[in-house]
Amino acid sequence: MAEGNLPGPIERRGLMLVLSSPSGAGKTTISRKLLEREADLMLSVSVTTRPKRPKERGGVDYSFIDQAAFDRMVENDEFLEHAMVFGNAYGTPRATVAEALEQGRDVLFDIDWQGTQQLTEKARDDLVSVFVLPPSTGELERRLRARAQDPEDVVRGRMAKAADEMSHWAEYDYVIVNTDIETSVTEVQEVLHAERLKRDRQKGLRDFVEVLRAGS
Ligand code: 5GP
Repeated sequence: MAEGNLPGPIERRGLMLVLSSPSGAGKTTISRKLLEREADLMLSVSVTTRPKRPKERGGVDYSFIDQAAFDRMVENDEFLEHAMVFGNAYGTPRATVAEALEQGRDVLFDIDWQGTQQLTEKARDDLVSVFVLPPSTGELERRLRARAQDPEDVVRGRMAKAADEMSHWAEYDYVIVNTDIETSVTEVQEVLHAERLKRDRQKGLRDFVEVLRAGS
């Protein structure tokens, strides 16, 4: 085929990659490594009323706002989904997501099962959801204890919340057990790469094949 007739690159629609897990399963580390390795993947920065932790940066980890500002965003329908998690309000702003998907960029969401249920109802075709499990209860407890020198009752409370969160595993498209962080990151990348090839996401396929056929 003459060079002028070369088809492609094939345009595609971006996808929404949701990662959920109980705290202590390693989801934050997996997310960070994914974002480092996948140039076409951007993080959806959530809005929350929870107080900022010392190492967190406003506008990067979360946008930290007060309850009144959060309520205004709800009233103005600015959230794609929002939920109360452990007594604080969290929400995903819609503004950046639609544009990214149109441009063929993928968006990573670190949200809980309530948010995933809402996104499943609103945007099933764009959604790919992954649930991350810890390898064992003992390992989960070890990771939760290693995180902070918290009193026994706080650790117990976190373990109970983790058990609650894990009960939602069956609502997800994919489930991975995070025994080794590198393996887990690779597994999520494999999911992402395969999902990008789904026929319906490759908007430009029809034109691509037309050009191929015309040239044959
Ligand atoms: P943390 O406060 O420890 O960062 O997050 C607590 C929980 O809230 C995690 O399970 C996290 O995935 C979830 N979360 C964070 N942002 C959002 C959001 O925008 N929506 C929902 N539904 N959950 C969120």
